[in-house]
Amino acid sequence: MYVDSHCHLSFPELSAKLDQIRADMAAADVDRALCICTTLEEFDAVHALATGYDNFWASVGVHPDNEDVREPSVDDLVTLAARPRVLAIGETGLDYYRLNGRSIADMEWQRERFRVHIRAARATGKPLVIHTRSASADTLAVLRDEGRGEVGGVFHCFTETMDVAKAALDLGFYVSFSGILTFKTAGDLREVARYVPLDRCLIETDSPYLAPVPYRGKTNTPAYVPYVAQQIAELKGIAPEEVGRITSSNFEKLFQPERNPETT
Ligand SMILES: [Zn+2]
Ligand SMILES: [Zn+2]
Repeated sequence: MYVDSHCHLSFPELSAKLDQIRADMAAADVDRALCICTTLEEFDAVHALATGYDNFWASVGVHPDNEDVREPSVDDLVTLAARPRVLAIGETGLDYYRLNGRSIADMEWQRERFRVHIRAARATGKPLVIHTRSASADTLAVLRDEGRGEVGGVFHCFTETMDVAKAALDLGFYVSFSGILTFKTAGDLREVARYVPLDRCLIETDSPYLAPVPYRGKTNTPAYVPYVAQQIAELKGIAPEEVGRITSSNFEKLFQPERNPETT
């Protein structure tokens, strides 16, 4: 009934207990998950999850925070995106949170990496999984400049303002909410979630990070994504099952998993 649209099951703290996680997902009615790639070095492990289980899929991309990793070319991304069960390009975007003494001008390498991902999304027709932190104006500017209205996707783990949400919706993107929505301090974000139309919302865990209340601070897993649905349901005044049904249908529209059925 629920889909986790963004998790990192290849990370060691989760991959070591995959059987338990899958059992917990089944018990919580979480029937599918999109496993997100953050480095080319990690891609084979992410892809193995997607080809090994008929309810996991994969993305391909290099996270903006990752330095000292293999830099992807458009060709690299296009080639890997053609592998079975790869539904999306990302996660990609801009993250100026940890500048470590650098200026925003110094972060041109991130903007160039982001452009490479957008070009790969245009070439493959696959949606972008966008990560943006302390960089929303540049993220939108690069998307407008490079995307030319031809790419869609999702702003994942949304924590930005109402204005950024409106801009993302105007560009045709979906907005994905994580466990942060359940945090006591997230009042402004709850107003954003109340505003974003349900037919443009996705839900995610970003496991192993950001476990929702009542598990805040613990290791997150896709089995907790219903807590995000529950929070949205309260904001919208509808049943959590309805949030599950609509966000699952949004997931299908955006990522088209039925086009990539084959597992090994
Ligand atoms: Zn992210
Ligand atoms: Zn992530």
